[in-house]
Amino acid sequence: MDDRERERCLRYVEKLFAAEDGVLEELQLAASQAGLPPISIDRAEGKLLQVLLRAVSAKRVLELGTLGGYSAVWMARALPENGLLITVELDPERSRLARQFVARAGLGERVSIRVGRAIELLPGLVEEGPFDAVFIDADKESYPLYLEWCRANVRAGGLVIADNAFKKGQVLDSGTQDPGVLGIQEFNRRLASDPQFTSIVVPIHDGVAIAVVS
Ligand code: SAH
Ligand code: MG
Repeated sequence: MDDRERERCLRYVEKLFAAEDGVLEELQLAASQAGLPPISIDRAEGKLLQVLLRAVSAKRVLELGTLGGYSAVWMARALPENGLLITVELDPERSRLARQFVARAGLGERVSIRVGRAIELLPGLVEEGPFDAVFIDADKESYPLYLEWCRANVRAGGLVIADNAFKKGQVLDSGTQDPGVLGIQEFNRRLASDPQFTSIVVPIHDGVAIAVVS
């Protein structure tokens, strides 16, 4: 299959499996109008997250990096009524937009948005765990630190999922000095080589790293 066919197949999958509803469409429009960068997950990745969360019967999920709440809405929809998604965002303005759309999606009870630097909030989140899954999508240089936190705070059989495992292809650059790329390279290496994780990167969007914790 060439690149063009692969692209068309992906569009087919998106259309058939991962339709956005009005709330998700409005959220993306509002995020763009508010000047947020277009760096959310895409709809195929949203559906992949739902499949993964359902596969482990996730009830308690943690997200690092909320942005406008697009991935949060996808994930919260895969949780049971009494489930909880805690999502952490550094920027108060972004978290306000997310809160607005989470409410509009009818998910206010299931999503708790925390404002602050992930590294500062994580110690306090220990007592809210253990988590069935953590979705890492905040500052890339801290991915290895986040992974170590997950090791202790994701239950056995739970998932560590990380966005941007390809960093737009920059992971292939062995001489990079970019702290974000170095962070993702180190994260991927640890995920791949540590026997505590059964892991892979799925080439959807910008690469989705998925690890089952044992
Ligand atoms: N998960 C979102 C996209 C997140 S983009 C989605 O797919 O819809 C990454 C977000 O992480 C940005 O909004 C940024 O403000 C936030 N961020 C960056 N560094 C952070 C940190 N140290 N702690 C918490 N959030 C951070
Ligand atoms: Mg991302």
